[in-house]
Amino acid sequence: MRIAMIGTGYVGLVSGACFSEFGVDVVCVDKDAAKIEGLHANRMPIYEPGLDALVADNVKGGRLSFTTDLKSAVSGADAVFIAVGTPSRRGDGHADLSYVYDAAREIAQSLTGYTVVVTKSTVPVGTGREVERIIRETRPDADFDVVSNPEFLREGSAINDFMRPDRVVIGAETDRARAVMKQLYRVLYLIETPIVFTSLETSELIKYAANTFLAAKITFINEIADLCEAVGADVHDVARGIGLDGRIGKKFLHPGPGYGGSCFPKDTLALVRTARDKGAPLRIIETVVAINDERKRKMADKVVAACAGSVEGKSIAVLGLTFKPNTDDMRDSPSLEIIPALQKAGASIRAFDPEGMEEARHMFSGVTFCENAYETLQSADAMVVLTEWNEFRALDFERVKSLLRAPILVDLRNIYNPADMVAAGFQYVSIGRPTPK
Ligand code: NAD
Repeated sequence: MRIAMIGTGYVGLVSGACFSEFGVDVVCVDKDAAKIEGLHANRMPIYEPGLDALVADNVKGGRLSFTTDLKSAVSGADAVFIAVGTPSRRGDGHADLSYVYDAAREIAQSLTGYTVVVTKSTVPVGTGREVERIIRETRPDADFDVVSNPEFLREGSAINDFMRPDRVVIGAETDRARAVMKQLYRVLYLIETPIVFTSLETSELIKYAANTFLAAKITFINEIADLCEAVGADVHDVARGIGLDGRIGKKFLHPGPGYGGSCFPKDTLALVRTARDKGAPLRIIETVVAINDERKRKMADKVVAACAGSVEGKSIAVLGLTFKPNTDDMRDSPSLEIIPALQKAGASIRAFDPEGMEEARHMFSGVTFCENAYETLQSADAMVVLTEWNEFRALDFERVKSLLRAPILVDLRNIYNPADMVAAGFQYVSIGRPTPK
């Protein structure tokens, strides 16, 4: 089997590398010549644990290659995956499908023989049909089917998620297309991964329903955490107490500063738009979006409150900038809201992130970027944990205290034990947990 992967970002590069590991011949295509040039030198355009080794192995094995030439990659391929970005359209929250439709037009011009064109990008219901229409209009003679195969991998554990997924969802409407997809995912069939075959529209909706459900689950536990603070309860015990119920499940019950990242914010907004346009509004998700937006602002207020009600003229040390650990992805990270809010309240910000700084430098102004956690804490009036990177979990707290001007620690990811922090002499604030006196 031979496939072309159009778009070599977080999803395209990981999916392409994993398919090549499954034994498929993969050509990854990107418009961004610098990305492709880097990949030729085994320089990864993103930080994802294990990706460089996986790519190097499969390039060496002759199953994985990179190009900017879409035409050569598509002609003769059994399947062409569209894995380009679908960001929020400025102004209305709809998914911007221009990259997908541009790719479809380019693909159409290069099709030879029967080809399955697969949308791997997260796309609203109806996009697959439109891709089909565009290809048909551009190339009335082409022999092809359009399939929806949304991706559920998570940044930071993307390779394992792709290789051992909970399920694979395939929206395909002909036996020929289903046969090609089965062959591509043969390795996962062998390990009995559940494969959900369904229609194009249903497959497209499954992806949004999954992401918005997860966003709602996070938002639920965040609100319960706020209530815990108000009544003196412990949100982690609540999460465990409810999560052990199989109908609820343990995962995604960790409170924090609000969800962020390149998927949940844009996908919740896009589904809200689709639902409104179709006259079937999703009021739960609309509320989730509003609560999450407000939450990020509230987190800045929490820091201000911990600093005796004012950060005017104070220096705040921020540890972690990415929306979660083990990625360099800064898209829609809570830090992008919380840091400017603190600056607006008069604080100066010192910050460090293990992988996100290169991106972050373009996204903030007036922030002092530091080389490591300890340098960040130097003479700061408070320490704020925004991302739960492992290296922040085991700091030397005597050193931390000696570096800070005041021992104020605001932990927006609950990575420390409140009793330990109080015993170590910190004024410790976390989310949804009582701090011992
Ligand atoms: P990304 O921005 O990292 O990568 C997209 C790539 O596509 C870029 O490198 C861009 O240069 C390239 N591109 C755009 N148009 C092109 C064209 N016509 N020809 C060749 N290359 C082109 O995006 P991503 O994070 O990989 O997301 C891709 C899609 O997958 C989105 O729809 C997203 O919602 C979805 N998704 C993302 C994740 C995630 O964790 N990032 C998880 C599941 C699904």
